[in-house]
Amino acid sequence: MSSLDLPAIQGEQALEYVDSCALPTTWANFTMHAFIDPASGKEHIALSLGDIADGQPVLARIHSECLTGDALFSKRCDCGPQLELAMQKIAAEGRGLILYLRQEGRGIGLLAKVQAYHLQDEGADTVEANQRLGFAADQRSYSLCDPMLKHLGVTSVKLMTNNPRKVSALQSMQITVAEQIPLIIARNPYNERYLATKATKLGHMLAPEL
Ligand SMILES: [Zn+2]
Repeated sequence: MSSLDLPAIQGEQALEYVDSCALPTTWANFTMHAFIDPASGKEHIALSLGDIADGQPVLARIHSECLTGDALFSKRCDCGPQLELAMQKIAAEGRGLILYLRQEGRGIGLLAKVQAYHLQDEGADTVEANQRLGFAADQRSYSLCDPMLKHLGVTSVKLMTNNPRKVSALQSMQITVAEQIPLIIARNPYNERYLATKATKLGHMLAPEL
């Protein structure tokens, strides 16, 4: 069934589950679950460890794709170290979940992110750069989490995030956020302004000096 025939109900994203496989990593042997959004053709994944469908709060991270940070070791943001720390914490607990959403560059896409970085090289902050390119400060949507969590049988999470938007997004899906666990790491001279802008303009809970 195509989502063009059946538009997603407001607040509920149509997402199809495709398959799962083992994903051994440096820290643990995760199970990787693949999903597709038929409307956009975008592929999304979840990494789970242990029994996450037993109703107990699941140590979880909602992570939006950041190619430069997650895969290319960029110091312009804190995405890679946050992902790594979340995977380490899940491995240490032996149970948890990462929802890896393919919404690169706070939802603007990789090429626009390069343009936004260029504007930042010339003095704009991360929010001004996105707005100058005609985007909202944060274009990410977390509605994708709803069908993923339903499929995986997760109803309650201990969410590793500094972003209150993610907490309220989950609560609006009737997911219990039993705990919010901050991930504060990797401040360096290149991301200092980025992190400060996230705190002042995007409401992230980041201590000014760490
Ligand atoms: Zn990043």
